[in-house]
Amino acid sequence: MKYCTKCGLPETYPGIRFDEEGVCNFCNFYDEHRDTLEDQESRHRIFLEEVEQAKQRAKETNAPYDCVVGLSGGKDSTYIVWQMKKTYGLRVLAVTFQNGFHTDYGRRNIDNVLQKLDVDHITVRMNEKELRRYYSKCVGVMKNFCAVCFHFGFYYCHQVAERYGIPLVINGRTKGQIMQFAVNTRGIEPFEISRGLKDFEYQMFGDLIELLDRRGKVDYLPQAKVTSLSYFAYHDITEEETMEFLVKEIGWERPDSKVPHADCWAHAMAEHLSIVKRGYPVRTGELAVLVRRGELTKEEASAILKDDKKRYKKIDRQLEGRFYNRISVSKSVQA
Ligand SMILES: [Zn+2]
Repeated sequence: MKYCTKCGLPETYPGIRFDEEGVCNFCNFYDEHRDTLEDQESRHRIFLEEVEQAKQRAKETNAPYDCVVGLSGGKDSTYIVWQMKKTYGLRVLAVTFQNGFHTDYGRRNIDNVLQKLDVDHITVRMNEKELRRYYSKCVGVMKNFCAVCFHFGFYYCHQVAERYGIPLVINGRTKGQIMQFAVNTRGIEPFEISRGLKDFEYQMFGDLIELLDRRGKVDYLPQAKVTSLSYFAYHDITEEETMEFLVKEIGWERPDSKVPHADCWAHAMAEHLSIVKRGYPVRTGELAVLVRRGELTKEEASAILKDDKKRYKKIDRQLEGRFYNRISVSKSVQA
């Protein structure tokens, strides 16, 4: 197996190419744009301008809120609700997509942040059978189901924003999630900012979006002219700093372990499927971004991924059963 000499990505990673020195195209893209991607001041200016414009537009249209924040119960979305309300002074509507994978831990954190921050909140739950169909299909074709939660989470944020005339959606994708497949500036913040759901999903799914749109497979809400900002594309803060901040400010509950995504009970299944299908853990591309940024060494990332591989290679039979039960189209068990 060949690996990038800089970030350690394997040759099986989607879309990867190596130059003569064995450096991957993702590293070369990052290096080419490092100045922009790491210039905190100018990125912050862009964010502030967008926020001010949104405030202005919400005022002009008499919208009941300035922005929608998708709230999962994890640290990143919780942190953003805090920042948008307290630091930026926006009227925030928090929106949770009820996917049936929420944990008690995530629910407690949602309750806590809503009580402490006094923001309005709505939960959206879509047609159960339809949701199961999406999950089953996605697992069948791509051995992945996170994409379904991503899509519908953002879909409902955009839909709610459109319905109430709210001009802005803020999301909690990490820098790793934003940059993990970036080889050009199209759809990548801060180079390009999306003004609608289709633009936004291009950032995550690339050309697949065009195909799904052409075939009419997915509703991209073409009428919804909503600006979307990824908070962490414009702010530099580590995971540990985020957690410390929340513990101090709102008595946030840390997850028990270092395993990521404590707000989703099926995360181990997502990891297992990724390792079986692609041979590497879910956060492989995300950690490579941190290596490029100098926040991790290649060796540290490789040790974390080795651990992930060991942990998720085998899956707990009970969890597996619960998962397939939850996504099964023929069953209608309450998840
Ligand atoms: Zn690389």
